[in-house]
Amino acid sequence: MRGQGPERHKRGRTRPAFGAGEGRMAGKSVPHFHNEPGVPAISVGAKEFMCIGALPPFDHPHVFLDMGAETEIICQYCSTLYRYAPALAAGAADPAQCVWHDDAAAAA
Ligand SMILES: [Zn+2]
Repeated sequence: MRGQGPERHKRGRTRPAFGAGEGRMAGKSVPHFHNEPGVPAISVGAKEFMCIGALPPFDHPHVFLDMGAETEIICQYCSTLYRYAPALAAGAADPAQCVWHDDAAAAA
């Protein structure tokens, strides 16, 4: 015998409006880029990354940049224009030397 309990409908809850949750690199470290060469624009394969401006110790405060729905973003510290390039790997950049490998620096 089945009870005729009131069916519960899930009410639409007000959730914080995050962007698309999919496609995020959960648990992965965010790629770091710098503009040591001083190029006007850097193509990157990730929409979310860190800009450090230049190689340490001349780096600016490491800022997290998120293009969101856009395909480019300008770093407020070093004014580097980052362009999203889907053809690149998530941690890659063009010029390739603009990728900063923290672990490589530590291992050196
Ligand atoms: Zn910067």
